[in-house]
Amino acid sequence: MITELLQEEKKELLNGFTIDDIGDDHLFTGLETPMKKDAFKLSDGEKKDKIASLFSEIMDVMGLDLTDDSLKGTPKRVAKMYIDEIFSGLNPANKPKVALFDNKYQYNQMLVEKNITFYSNCEHHFVPIIGKAHVAYISSGKVIGLSKLNRIVQYFAKRPQVQERLTNQIAEELKAILNTEDVAVIIDAKHLCVSSRGVKDDASATVTSYFGGKFNNQEKIVELQNTLNY
Ligand SMILES: [Zn+2]
Repeated sequence: MITELLQEEKKELLNGFTIDDIGDDHLFTGLETPMKKDAFKLSDGEKKDKIASLFSEIMDVMGLDLTDDSLKGTPKRVAKMYIDEIFSGLNPANKPKVALFDNKYQYNQMLVEKNITFYSNCEHHFVPIIGKAHVAYISSGKVIGLSKLNRIVQYFAKRPQVQERLTNQIAEELKAILNTEDVAVIIDAKHLCVSSRGVKDDASATVTSYFGGKFNNQEKIVELQNTLNY
C-alpha cells in the first residue's frame, strides 16, 4: 500500500518536476497548512496510540531492539511530544485566545516585539527550524498584550512548517486580530535540514519578511531594520 502510494507520488508532477527532481529544494505551496478534511476525526489520545504503534514499527524496521530499557518508552514519548508539544499548533483548539485593549496611551507609532525565539520543524524533513521572529504593528485603536504576540508565533511554529508560510500565517493572524493591515513580520532562522544533513552548511540562515500596509514603505522598512539592528 505504502509502496503504491510512493510510486503514485513519483509520477505526480509539481510545476513539471517530480518529487525526486525537487529533492531538497523546498516548495511553498500556499498560506494554509495542507490538512485533511477529517484531520480531527481521531481524538488526541487515539492519535497518540496510533503514532506510538507506527513509530515503533519504524524503529523496528531500522533494526532497533524495542525491548531494550532505553528504547522501549520512545514510541510513546515521540507520540506524546508530537501531539501535545511540537505539533500542537495543528489543532485550532490550541490557538491562543487573545484579548484586545483600548489604546489608552494614544501611542500611534510602531510597536516592535523582537527576538521571539521559536522552535519549529521543517515539513519536508521533520527536523528542527530554530530561529527568531520579530513582529511589529501600528495600532488601529486597539492594542494586544505583548505576551500574546509571542504566543501567536509559538502557535504557528508548532506545526510542520516552511518558513515562508510561517511568516505569512503569523502576519495574517495579526492582521485579523488587530484589525489592521499595518503589521510586519521578520523571521531569521536556521534549518537543521540544511546544517545537519544535505549540504551541511552550518553558517547560513534564512530570512523572510512580510510588510503590510504602512510597513510596505521604504522609510518604514529602514526604521524597522534600524530598530532591529539588521
Ligand atoms: Zn527541510
